[in-house]
Amino acid sequence: MEKGSEISEVAESLRTAHKLLFITGAGISAESGIPTFRGKDGYWRQHNPMELASPEGFAQDPALVWEWYNERKAIIRRAQPNAGHLAIAQLQAAIPNTLLATQNVDGLHQTAGSKQVVEIHGSIWQTCCTREGTLFLRDAVDTETEVPPKCKCGALLRPNVVWFGEALPVEPITHITEFILAGGIDIAFAIGTSALFAYISGWAWEAKEQGARVVEINLDPSPISTFADFIFRDKAGTVLPQIYQAMQA
Ligand code: NAD
Repeated sequence: MEKGSEISEVAESLRTAHKLLFITGAGISAESGIPTFRGKDGYWRQHNPMELASPEGFAQDPALVWEWYNERKAIIRRAQPNAGHLAIAQLQAAIPNTLLATQNVDGLHQTAGSKQVVEIHGSIWQTCCTREGTLFLRDAVDTETEVPPKCKCGALLRPNVVWFGEALPVEPITHITEFILAGGIDIAFAIGTSALFAYISGWAWEAKEQGARVVEINLDPSPISTFADFIFRDKAGTVLPQIYQAMQA
């Protein structure tokens, strides 16, 4: 199918849609200048994930891990939401019964105006105490002057993100699962994710089982490509505004 007619078909479905699911990954923020993990120029091409994003790596060298997170925070602080983030927020405003499950920790969806955002891998802007679990929100603690930063209780602080080998937060996951299993999702979008975690492709699959049409927008093939109804091998910041504009036409 021609790309133009696929855009029209998705836009047509959106005009009568009542419930949407968005699943996003690092690719949606790539056009904001934030590197992905696995794609071209991705972080894991230059770093060992087990050293920088695992409890073991943190135990071994917390200063190295914090230097990396502070570097990422500096990049994200300078970043702005791109046309893809903004189009998602517009689609959500048009069809309010939506849920946006993001693997991103950068907070750009919220800056773009998205509502019902579930951050399944945590937030780079939150910090927590490794002893007491106390949670500190954006800018509540300085993580840069003393590296690694410490809590008032003396224990190390850590970024409130999910590392390799750690469990996903229960409440957000339950929320997403219930949203999908309640049925009625018209379209499930999977955007900018390699979908290598089984739960990511599982959510898209389950939404399809419940009757949703699955739209993948990703530069590279992923496990979701094997069952998606529409596949756009193009940038999210190009495709999503086209879909939104076609829906308005
Ligand atoms: P990933 O790096 O594994 O995959 C990114 C995918 O996005 C790739 O398949 C790539 O083809 C695609 N992509 C790149 N640029 C794109 C664009 N402009 N438009 C559409 N697609 C594009 O990322 P992932 O699947 O999110 O999983 C890895 C982990 O990365 C997650 O746990 C997440 O927490 C973390 N992460 C987050 C950020 C962030 O918050 N911005 C950045 C890097 C990594």
